Amino acid sequence: MSEILVVVDHADGAVRTTTAELLTCARRLGEPSAVFFGAAADLTPGQLAEYGARKAYVLEDAAYRDCLVAPKAEALAQLVADRRPAAVLIPSTPEGKEVAARLAIKTDSGLVTDASDVVRGDDGAVHTTQSVFGGAFTTTASITKGTPIVTLKPNSLTTEGADPAVPIEAETVRVAVSDTARAARIIRREPRGDIGRPDLADASIVVSGGRGTGGDFDAVEAFADCLGAAVGASRAAVDAGWYPHAFQVGQTGVTVSPQLYVASGISGAIQHIAGMRSSKIVVAVNKDAEAPIFGLADFGVIGDLRPVLVQATTEIDNRRAAGA
Ligand SMILES: Cc1cc2nc3c(=O)[nH]c(=O)nc-3n(C[C@H](O)[C@H](O)[C@H](O)COP(=O)(O)OP(=O)(O)OC[C@H]3O[C@@H](n4cnc5c(N)ncnc54)[C@H](O)[C@@H]3O)c2cc1C
Repeated sequence: MSEILVVVDHADGAVRTTTAELLTCARRLGEPSAVFFGAAADLTPGQLAEYGARKAYVLEDAAYRDCLVAPKAEALAQLVADRRPAAVLIPSTPEGKEVAARLAIKTDSGLVTDASDVVRGDDGAVHTTQSVFGGAFTTTASITKGTPIVTLKPNSLTTEGADPAVPIEAETVRVAVSDTARAARIIRREPRGDIGRPDLADASIVVSGGRGTGGDFDAVEAFADCLGAAVGASRAAVDAGWYPHAFQVGQTGVTVSPQLYVASGISGAIQHIAGMRSSKIVVAVNKDAEAPIFGLADFGVIGDLRPVLVQATTEIDNRRAAGA
């Protein structure tokens, strides 16, 4: 069966959900092999085997950690030349997209970024689906040149576990990284403080605030914390400097797919919807009954978000205290 390379998205070995999605997708195309940039000691092969990886290529050079994206692109190009995979799947993170673009140039291959689905067509070619113009259109493409390279948007697919009994084989791969690729180095890292909330992209509940917060996210955060949710923001709130860009939900922000999405003081612009439309249940709180978000919402509250969220928080806290 043809080999599909899947670049593992991880933090010090802790594999992110995006990797499970990529492996699920890769299984439809062929036999997935994980590409793990990092220390072999950090690799937990079982996490990859669970979603069908049969092989893990471990690339340990310090350059992958200490430099920007060029060493990773070089190493992947070398792997593609050696193993001749049928496709390469990469997470649609800013880093993943840059690595993918460099890899496409190095291998003279076709590239599709931000795909929401990848399948193999009857013609044997790799076909991708993308949602474009803020989700207004869905396009399909087939990659006909070189080794198809695809970056897959997080939260696009439902992950499916594989037979965990099938063993995974780990192989350390050494690639000579050029001095040119080592030129741009990371000179300092500042860890983001632990905010005690789930990661926005993976959260099962997201409470977002928009321009309607007027810049005061206290009620949004308190409601999120009582639900164990992540906090998101609309671009209007981010552009106003009320919330950091890392929390922006939408076309030019994070794509979320939680069980529950609460949009408070958000009108429901198409670019915002593009980042949360696959949420299972949407609750909107907005003082304007005509706000477009109500067209998408499963439940809506027409009113001022502050008293609504404060009352909801108090009610949930009280019920919890009463053991309900
Ligand atoms: C290329 C491009 C990319 C973009 N990418 C993104 C993106 O990734 N994410 C994104 O979010 N936007 C994005 N936008 C911006 C988008 O078009 C909207 O401008 C933005 O989403 C509006 O944010 P908002 O809903 O918070 O603000 P508004 O549209 O101003 O809506 C505020 C809402 O709050 C309500 N409200 C006001 N006060 C209260 C109150 N006290 N209680 C309850 N409700 C209240 C109002 O009735 C209104 O519906 C993008 C735009 C472009 C052109």
